[in-house]
Amino acid sequence: MNRRSHPQVQGIGMTSRRTRARMVERLRKEGITDETVLAALGTVPRHLFVEEALASRAYDDDALPIGFSQTISQPYVVALMIQTLRAGRELGKVLEVGTGCGYQAAVLARVATEVYSVERIAPLLAKARANLRGLRLSNLRLKHGDGNLGLAEAAPFDAIILAAATPELPQALLQQLAPGGRMILPFGSSAQVLRLVERTRAGFSETTLDAVRFVPMLMGVE
Ligand code: SAH
Repeated sequence: MNRRSHPQVQGIGMTSRRTRARMVERLRKEGITDETVLAALGTVPRHLFVEEALASRAYDDDALPIGFSQTISQPYVVALMIQTLRAGRELGKVLEVGTGCGYQAAVLARVATEVYSVERIAPLLAKARANLRGLRLSNLRLKHGDGNLGLAEAAPFDAIILAAATPELPQALLQQLAPGGRMILPFGSSAQVLRLVERTRAGFSETTLDAVRFVPMLMGVE
């Protein structure tokens, strides 16, 4: 990361670093044990991904508004989803559906070899690009599109992570999972749970995890 290239990054100083360290300690207490994930969350400056007026709350364990009726995901849920996907192993090529402000994409780029992230709202994707510019994550590619269709041009993926809830598993995403690949998603509509889907030799196996609350996955692009 080139701090000088990004005026906002330059201004963060010790305070944010300390606040991030406190956030990491909190995540540890809440049961996040994967040191690689904790280190990534300790590095990504979350306050750069929220509106300036909300920056003081950037390291609270809350989802915050990012415009267009969307939210930045809660740090605990970001950590839990990535920890579950990794299961202690290296993450190769990852697809994220729902870039939003780009925060989780930045965390993913710190723990995976290659990351693709798809967002359906063009102006939100533009915002994400601006937020991410100063971080210089050369292994992260953002695309405008409907994530229900996955990203055929870059498939297959070792892992897929959905940042919006769906009551059905999108077939295209299942097809774009590599053998042995894992997908994690908020599953359901009004009541949601995290679900882990693994592509096995025999087909797909599913595990249900914590209850969560995400914005719904929508169809098409805007
Ligand atoms: N990953 C973000 C969370 C964004 S909220 C973070 O780090 O905070 C979920 C995002 O999913 C929203 O930006 C929403 O527009 C997007 N989304 C919903 N349905 C989608 C779809 N079909 N394809 C791509 N993005 C979608």
